[in-house]
Amino acid sequence: MNFKRAKAKVKRIRQERTLLGVYAVAVTTALLVYVYNNNSVRASLPDDEELVEIIPEDTAYEDAFSLEDDLRLAEDEAKAPQTVEIEDLPKEAEVAEDMLTLKALGVNEEDVKVEKGDSFIGILTKMGLEYAEATNIYTAYKKVYDARKVKVGQVLHISSLTDSKYNDAISITKIMTEPVSGTRYIVEKNADGKYEARTEQDDLTEEIKVVSGTINGTVGGSMKVAGVPNNIVGNFINIFSYSVDLRRDVRAGDKFEVKYEQNLAPNGNVVKTGDIIYAELTLGKVKTALYRFKDSSGTVDYYDEKGQALKKSLDRKPLEYKKARVSSKFGTRFHPILKQYRMHSGVDYAAPQGTKVYASGDGTVTKAKWVNGYGNYVTIRHNSEYSTGYGHLKAYAKGIRPGVRVKQGQVIAYVGSTGRSTGPHLHFEVIRNGKKVDPLKIKAATGESLSGEKLKAFKKVVAQINNAGATETKVASKKDDAVANTGNIASNTGDTIAN
Ligand SMILES: [Zn+2]
Repeated sequence: MNFKRAKAKVKRIRQERTLLGVYAVAVTTALLVYVYNNNSVRASLPDDEELVEIIPEDTAYEDAFSLEDDLRLAEDEAKAPQTVEIEDLPKEAEVAEDMLTLKALGVNEEDVKVEKGDSFIGILTKMGLEYAEATNIYTAYKKVYDARKVKVGQVLHISSLTDSKYNDAISITKIMTEPVSGTRYIVEKNADGKYEARTEQDDLTEEIKVVSGTINGTVGGSMKVAGVPNNIVGNFINIFSYSVDLRRDVRAGDKFEVKYEQNLAPNGNVVKTGDIIYAELTLGKVKTALYRFKDSSGTVDYYDEKGQALKKSLDRKPLEYKKARVSSKFGTRFHPILKQYRMHSGVDYAAPQGTKVYASGDGTVTKAKWVNGYGNYVTIRHNSEYSTGYGHLKAYAKGIRPGVRVKQGQVIAYVGSTGRSTGPHLHFEVIRNGKKVDPLKIKAATGESLSGEKLKAFKKVVAQINNAGATETKVASKKDDAVANTGNIASNTGDTIAN
């Protein structure tokens, strides 16, 4: 369709120009419009080389011409003898033509919403622009913005000179789009008729966003209903995942509050979100409030108001294979190999060879070596009270050796059947104050406290974070209204803002 249309248009314009030439000499005021020269009709087609260069390889412009069409059109035009080439027109004729053409031109501004199946070049050619010109604009624009990225629903603000007779845009003067609020990408025709692109960036303001609410269903679901962005919800859940069983410990009516950084454009639109600086969960009557703190060495962690690191329970089943069943409990048992009653100092989890073994909690590796009976054996010291041990391992994870710090959930080894073992399983031990205890009965907590200079710096941060919340009550209230409107949270009271 476009191919035929454009071809007809080229012919039409040329015919008009030939006629115009006849009247040209009589016009004397023509110089007045010279300045508009670069907005006049360009019916010429680009040469092959230019086209090859500017068409992105991996893109199919559904609405645009194929390269073949263009080449064929260019060939046809070259063969056509009957029309006078623009270049052959006398200078005066060109001027007169421009003036007459301008009479039919109107400046047009429109907002074009990208629809399914649209391409940037397709949109421009649909408006009546020559394909070559559209690709020129695309190429110029690409210096700041790849217009292939336009998404359905995105708006292009397009200024054009339009031939009112045919309602075709014959020259685009400016295109602006703002895919992310506060950042505008502009391509504009300069005085020489060339397209130039630039970016306009609004100054972003940083603020602390506070959202609180009542849990109804899952923590994540309730936070999303309250308007918390997905990435913040995910981080919030991570912060609490080792200290709270978010599936079993949370009840309807429990409360959450989160404070996080976000950047705003001058119009108030959120451009991006940053870190969670405060995370609070109130389960029943127990409130856990955690503050983000980056110490002088750059380590980031979350601490309670007193500077105590988030209490992380030891993972009682530190295996990738969560279905692993207990094949032998802690306590006295008849030993299958030694054929006598012996104390079993840990718990055995039957799991396939090579299953990943995790660190049960944060800590430092104290042993990673062969120990008689245990085979390949790892121990980790978590704090002054607790250590854990892992036996019958097939192999250690890369880098696991004494002195290395590990995080809870980090892979430390792989399940095997080394040492005194009848089949692949993990022998897991918890050592409390030097004594082996039943791993299934512990309620251990790990985590370091801040002290000295770090604690001082932390206290300042706590004060700042508490203040940040107080100034944002308004924003949060607004959000609460919005939540109330959705009707998904039954009792989202106005007093959910702490401080
Ligand atoms: Zn065992």
